[in-house]
Amino acid sequence: MMQPAESFDPARDSAMTCLVTGAGSGIGRAIALAFARERAHVIVNDLPSSAALYELREDIEALGARCTIAAGDVADPECVRQLFAGIEWLDVLVNNAGILQESPVTEITDAAWDRMIKVHLYGAFHFSREAARLMKQQRHGAIVNIASDLGQLGCENLSHYSAAKGGIIAFTKSLARELAPHGARVNAVAPGGVLTPMVEALGDRYVEAEAARYPLKRLGTPDEIAEVVRFLSSDAASFMTGQIVGVNGGGVMNG
Ligand code: NAD
Repeated sequence: MMQPAESFDPARDSAMTCLVTGAGSGIGRAIALAFARERAHVIVNDLPSSAALYELREDIEALGARCTIAAGDVADPECVRQLFAGIEWLDVLVNNAGILQESPVTEITDAAWDRMIKVHLYGAFHFSREAARLMKQQRHGAIVNIASDLGQLGCENLSHYSAAKGGIIAFTKSLARELAPHGARVNAVAPGGVLTPMVEALGDRYVEAEAARYPLKRLGTPDEIAEVVRFLSSDAASFMTGQIVGVNGGGVMNG
């Protein structure tokens, strides 16, 4: 059960409020800490089983920022509704929570396909739907979705993951068009391979092969993704919406 986030009073707390899903590990953790360095009030989400959120809260508070834990499964719409019941103002939403599972298409079960789409695509939808309601009232806000270069390129043995990320890219562009008249911006970051527990779990050989396919011949770091997310969330990116920003060592070159 997701706990309602503690209510935000703009008069009491003038710092911006940023919500990051899947913040307990890897890229999400780095994004949460990047917002904390800006003294934002950071609302951090991950699965209820994630003890990592408590450690993250200590790290955020050590940076002098406020942190609220909002644990829950992003795939559960009722959980997400309850979480938003406690939020009166939201400057930034980052849809980052994700899972990875390698499997040939012939071996993907209906349940595995469902879970992949539910966590990535429904998760981003559930949070964006609630955030959009607030941002339309506020006439202000930024949403950043974490897609993947695999949503652009496709990938063997990751067809469900790649399909989910391709869906997030189309969702980003649609939402950007819909919210632009209401003063809110929506962009996505499409990382290439980033050294996080998600990728480390696939083993050293996978990591080496991944690094070799990028012109820069290495994987990215979570901080390299977080920095671009921070930029897209900020007023410095005030003329950017509907963009899919590749942070991928040159693995995809658009334009
Ligand atoms: P990670 O496994 O280190 O972190 C993902 C976090 O999401 C975990 O803390 C996990 O508990 C959480 N999570 C998973 N399911 C959840 C759910 N249902 N509800 C709430 N939280 C949930 O992985 P990461 O590499 O940091 O990935 C973060 C995002 O970046 C994901 O969307 C991933 O697809 C994307 N991405 C990663 C890479 C990469 O190479 N690492 C590349 C491109 C995109």
